[in-house]
Amino acid sequence: MSVKPLSYYRERYIRFQPSPFCPGCGNGTILNCFVRAIDELGIPRERVLCVSGIGCSAWIPSPNLRGDTLHTTHGRAIAFATGAKVYNPHLYTVVFTGDGDGAGIGGNHLIHAARRNIDITVILVNNLSYAMTGGQIAPTTLHGLRTTTSPYGNPEHPFDLVKLAAAAGATYVARWTTYHVVELTRSIKEALRHRGFSFIEVLSQCPTQQRRLFGLRGPMRTLPSRIVEMFAEGTYLRGRPLKGSYLYALPEGDPEEVLRDVGEALRDLEASARLVDHIAFGRVVRVDAEDLEEAAGRLRALGGLRRLADATEGKIEVGVFVEEERPEFTESLREVIRRAEVRP
Ligand code: SF4
Repeated sequence: MSVKPLSYYRERYIRFQPSPFCPGCGNGTILNCFVRAIDELGIPRERVLCVSGIGCSAWIPSPNLRGDTLHTTHGRAIAFATGAKVYNPHLYTVVFTGDGDGAGIGGNHLIHAARRNIDITVILVNNLSYAMTGGQIAPTTLHGLRTTTSPYGNPEHPFDLVKLAAAAGATYVARWTTYHVVELTRSIKEALRHRGFSFIEVLSQCPTQQRRLFGLRGPMRTLPSRIVEMFAEGTYLRGRPLKGSYLYALPEGDPEEVLRDVGEALRDLEASARLVDHIAFGRVVRVDAEDLEEAAGRLRALGGLRRLADATEGKIEVGVFVEEERPEFTESLREVIRRAEVRP
């Protein structure tokens, strides 16, 4: 990542107006990564077209970005982008979409664009709900999470968007979070250079809706950093084994009380315990111990715990999942048109 001052990116790429996002929203981070990626690649602004649909993520390029943007209808950004790319194959055509917009309402466009391998980059911002309309269940909401339309927990299972895009035929597929800014910027550069359909899912913090989703307590201003830390705690890098010897104790009641009890139970061991937010289990006690077997044995005898979870349970894999070559749609289409034109 380059070390140009923020003012450079602001003046060159951002329209001067107040941000439309709630304070602490992850969309600003993603915009930042995107402009750094196009700047580092030296792509002229006039060769970039950003297309978006409806939802908070649609506002990342429009109206924020100084450049060509197409703000379209709900779920249809990929369809509009397909038309633009076919008309002008020299454009870097980038779709910004959300999980509701791109995987729910526009899910059909997503899989068929991937199947065609059209040279479009889709950056799908996954905040795990329909955030802009009030935090309803989306096809990405994790099982059991509370939303405005599932106040007692989500009975559905989410799409794994990386597997969906890969199975549909996308030739570049990656997943990062707003914690992984260096990796995300690198991935956007790879996707822009890639010839074919590239898909990047970005798990992003939405403090406004994820407070309910994850059952977070505490002042609003603390939530963005807590959720980003949760992404760090709740993910692991593809192909890299998790470091450390630790487990999670899932409290039945007050996590603070459980932390005290856990600390007492492990007092004479080489161990430490602290409260962390876990993407799958909420507020839990993380226990790092040299002798994990011994620590687990003592914790099992403790009251006030739902159960223990190992270091990998419920975690989300991040990284680059697919990077391959296959004939690209606009080139194949031009070839078909050429054949039709020379036909006697
Ligand atoms: S509702 Fe959530 S995703 Fe939308 S702008 Fe606010 S914080 Fe960001």
